[in-house]
Amino acid sequence: MPRAFKTSVLIVGGGPVGVTLAMDLAWRGNDVIVVERRLANAPPDVKCGQISARSMEVFRRLGLAHKLRQVGLPADYPNDVVSAISVTGIELSRVSIPARGERGSAATGPDTSWPTPDHTHRVNQIFFEPVLFAHLAAQPRARILNRTEFEHFTQYEQGVTAIARDLDSGERLSIDCTYLVGCDGASSMVRKAIGAEFVGTPVLQRAQTIYIRAPALMNMLPGKPAWMYKSLNPRRCGMTMAIDGRETWLIHNYLYRGDADLDSTDRDWVTRMILGVGPDFRYEVISTEDWVARRLVADKFRNRRVFICGDAAHLWIPLGGYGMNAGIADAANLAWKLAATLNGWAPPGILDAYDAERRPITDQASHLISDIAQKVAMQQREISADIEGQDSVGEATRTRVGKEAYDLDVHQQCCGGLNFGYYYQGSPIIAYDDESPPAYTMGTFTSSTVPGCRAPHLWLEGRRSLYDAFGPGYSLLRLDPTTRVSGIVEAAAKRNVPLTVVDVNASEAWDLYRRKLVLVRLDQHVAWRGDREPAAPLDLIDLVRGG
Ligand SMILES: Cc1cc2nc3c(=O)[nH]c(=O)nc-3n(C[C@H](O)[C@H](O)[C@H](O)COP(=O)(O)OP(=O)(O)OC[C@H]3O[C@@H](n4cnc5c(N)ncnc54)[C@H](O)[C@@H]3O)c2cc1C
Repeated sequence: MPRAFKTSVLIVGGGPVGVTLAMDLAWRGNDVIVVERRLANAPPDVKCGQISARSMEVFRRLGLAHKLRQVGLPADYPNDVVSAISVTGIELSRVSIPARGERGSAATGPDTSWPTPDHTHRVNQIFFEPVLFAHLAAQPRARILNRTEFEHFTQYEQGVTAIARDLDSGERLSIDCTYLVGCDGASSMVRKAIGAEFVGTPVLQRAQTIYIRAPALMNMLPGKPAWMYKSLNPRRCGMTMAIDGRETWLIHNYLYRGDADLDSTDRDWVTRMILGVGPDFRYEVISTEDWVARRLVADKFRNRRVFICGDAAHLWIPLGGYGMNAGIADAANLAWKLAATLNGWAPPGILDAYDAERRPITDQASHLISDIAQKVAMQQREISADIEGQDSVGEATRTRVGKEAYDLDVHQQCCGGLNFGYYYQGSPIIAYDDESPPAYTMGTFTSSTVPGCRAPHLWLEGRRSLYDAFGPGYSLLRLDPTTRVSGIVEAAAKRNVPLTVVDVNASEAWDLYRRKLVLVRLDQHVAWRGDREPAAPLDLIDLVRGG
């Protein structure tokens, strides 16, 4: 007989997305089990390089944004993005981004005016993943089963039974749960088991990642250090990221210009060309990884009681640092809906909104990111030998390439649209009105209260974030204290829907909100707005809770 477990939600995969989902469910009072193949405290991948502002807002709510902000590059290490002939070569352009220690006070830079209480944090996964794990492990409602591999599940009308295996003892575990979520990465078994298929472009580019220790490099940088260097020279283009701000660096080399395949590429030569160093320069390879850049989105994110999130549901080239962060947005979207049904204030109909909301958004993101990836690839292919010339042609080439590089870099690395611009259309649990949401691109957005958009952020008196004033359930923002809200409050109470009324009297609130009442969901998206309560408040509450 397999050893038996019981939980409300079983999460397969304890990567950053599974861990975030587990933390959010536990925060909402639900018990959860995470099964994860890896050992507890196994060294994390060196992959993800940034936690987006939007993800930081989720972590702020969960109470660990501050802890995350303490780790990563030295507090005064610039987060700048530099395009240069090589890491040690002539600088072509620089996007100035404040160091983590200066984030609160910095006023210059293309993203410092973003309407958020928690800016993007450039920090590698090797530093932030242990913080996420420790936070989850401290949640009494969460249980992590490491060295445990999910094998298969059966779902019934009332629940799901999953079978997993202890990888050390070989013992089988049987886990009964109300819902199962596959956060099991790109080769997700859960995705295959629910009959979902990836649709899109299976191969966009092949890439080689080389993680090195090079203590001498820091002293060879020609100017102020940067977090990311994009090398643009006719021999080899690539990206280099500072990992610890002292001696470790991660280099991405994208296959191009007649490279037959990654194996035929001379990694040492590539590394030296990207860094701009000669044969005598000494460095140590810590690890390498070859990977394929894709654009794939699953054709469904759910089959009855089973869901997929993160890389299990979508994959694309991680330009702009928006792979894991899209998965964290999935987790934040799904957690409150699952909790709503488990906590008894929403019917299962609310769960239909997960696929309806997240699949179109991830599809849009996949296209925006693939478009920019194509522009970056084109830029790299077009670098001519002139860029290194000592004459006026060289000078003019550097100026032109530098300008083009700046535009691409700022769009990609300060991607406000991917953070704040996207909105949910066609959701069954949003009460839309006649106004269309403002268009957004990867880099641009307009804050709006059109239902489906992210509720615009503002600072309240005493520099308190509006988001910190939100309750754990719906928040009904009232911009005019004389406006009646008792109908909505009573309707919510009748259905046991958690609701907090938040009076907002900040001076800029009216310009941003333009309605006296705005109902904000548990994931900060606007569910409804108006200048007075609707004639039938119970209908509104029933709509936003899924039936
Ligand atoms: C080189 C590189 C750089 C990147 N940089 C960034 C970046 O800067 N920002 C960003 O947002 N994204 C970045 N990404 C993308 C990012 O790494 C992924 O989007 C992110 O890791 C997805 O998280 P996840 O939790 O969905 O999946 P994963 O991180 O893949 O985690 C899945 C987990 O599930 C476990 N698992 C799988 N199957 C089972 C099973 N059957 N039983 C038990 N456990 C199982 C695995 O062990 C793993 O821990 C980068 C990717 C690459 C390749």
